[in-house]
Amino acid sequence: MNIYYIDGQFVEDHQAKIPVEDLSVLRGYGVFDFLRTYNGVPFHLDDHLLRLQRSARLIGLQLTHTPAALTEIVRETLARNTHLESNIRIVVTGGMSQDGITPGDSPRLMVMIGPVKPMPEEWYTDGAKVITCHVDRFMPGAKSINYIPAILCQAEARSHQAIEAVYVDRDGYLLEGTTSNLVALRGDTLITPPCNRILPGITRQVVLQLARQEFEVEERQLHKDEIRLLDEAFLTSSVKEVAPVVTIDSMSIGGGEPGSRTLRVMELFREYTAAYRD
Ligand code: PLP
Repeated sequence: MNIYYIDGQFVEDHQAKIPVEDLSVLRGYGVFDFLRTYNGVPFHLDDHLLRLQRSARLIGLQLTHTPAALTEIVRETLARNTHLESNIRIVVTGGMSQDGITPGDSPRLMVMIGPVKPMPEEWYTDGAKVITCHVDRFMPGAKSINYIPAILCQAEARSHQAIEAVYVDRDGYLLEGTTSNLVALRGDTLITPPCNRILPGITRQVVLQLARQEFEVEERQLHKDEIRLLDEAFLTSSVKEVAPVVTIDSMSIGGGEPGSRTLRVMELFREYTAAYRD
């Protein structure tokens, strides 16, 4: 059983509810952020809260909680749960609206905690397949609750035995996965699409910072035609952490197995998270 914070109350997960008139239900209007703990400590909570604030600003949603208040609520909710390591989903919905479309001044805050579930081991040992999907992103920098393209592309990925779909824009540039960022390697250079085209992942940010000690990093556009020239690739996300990619569509990357540089980045990230404390 999980304890959630729903609009001012701590409740058991099966009792959590919000009114059906909330703008999130009526119009899909709301934002969220998602993170996990390492050693019981919320990973880069400040960065996730900054991103939540930016998401809200981008969609014109007025947050009523300060970052300090949000931090306190997250900590309090975590303390009421007993998982070894937790996933933390912070959702802010549009709340009630007079006319069903104009946001009011009382957004709803929810903090939902659950246990971290391990991803399949073979993703990390053998590497994973991803596919590409044509999607023109709407406000990629806002982590809005509308994940319709992601749900459609994920279904497409699954039908190809792929773990993720990477969005490609109308000019053929690779952007990011449905719930992850893409990093490619040519030689010792990490290449990843720039922040203004994607949701800037917190894992991506941490990974790039760690990798800069040993690798060159280029934040630049990456065209689909460049896939065949790549030596290695990997995905980053709070859930997948650093996951090697060995196939993109039908193209094999790096001989079809996780490359040595990707393995090194995975190691750097693991060391960092293992040592993560408040
Ligand atoms: N890009 C998108 C569209 C996402 O939804 C996510 C996470 O869900 C990410 C990237 C990765 O972000 P993070 O590393 O902060 O989990």
